[in-house]
Amino acid sequence: MADVDLNQDKWPHPTRHDPAAFFRDVSPSWAVDAAACAPQKRSHKRCNRGGRMTAYDDQNIFAKILRGEIPSIKLYEDDDTYCFMDIMPRADGHCLVIPKTPCRNVLDASHDQLASAMKTVQLMSHAVMKAFGAEGVTLQQFNEDAGGQEVYHLHFHILPRHAGVSLRPPGKMAEMDVLNAQAAQIRAALE
Ligand code: 5GP
Repeated sequence: MADVDLNQDKWPHPTRHDPAAFFRDVSPSWAVDAAACAPQKRSHKRCNRGGRMTAYDDQNIFAKILRGEIPSIKLYEDDDTYCFMDIMPRADGHCLVIPKTPCRNVLDASHDQLASAMKTVQLMSHAVMKAFGAEGVTLQQFNEDAGGQEVYHLHFHILPRHAGVSLRPPGKMAEMDVLNAQAAQIRAALE
């Protein structure tokens, strides 16, 4: 069975211009307060390993989530990383792992940022598989526009998979109560 193209760098992205729109009419009771996360320190660290100089933009959506400026559905956090539900899930349990410190993508990440993120990715991969009885997990990670990146704060997608079940097309917002129920399942699987 043909799967969806995993390198969809031009999918519709409703939150790109108005990330608050999705949450505007939703009761805040569903959202875990991300303000408890370590505050983002303003940084203009630059990526220079590939000869390209690109500044970190601290107004990206995930930086705002880390600062608690917009809500997110928290699944897990530790000193270095934060994990939350993707609002346009391509599979049940689709979640994202991000470092709490500024980092544009893999190209400017420190070894510590990558190591701590991957530790959380592994932890959450086990949790989502357990929560959804999945047979496998797909990890996705995009770097720069040409690499399909839409949000410029390093993040890893975790997608629980079942044999023969394709990923859903990107760009479709999930129902908030569905996301909340799935998040509760994942948090329970962590215990
Ligand atoms: P990427 O940069 O990996 O191409 O895509 C960004 C991902 O972030 C997408 O899967 C998208 O659904 C998700 N996303 C975009 N805006 C928000 C948001 O405001 N909250 C959450 N939880 N996820 C978001």
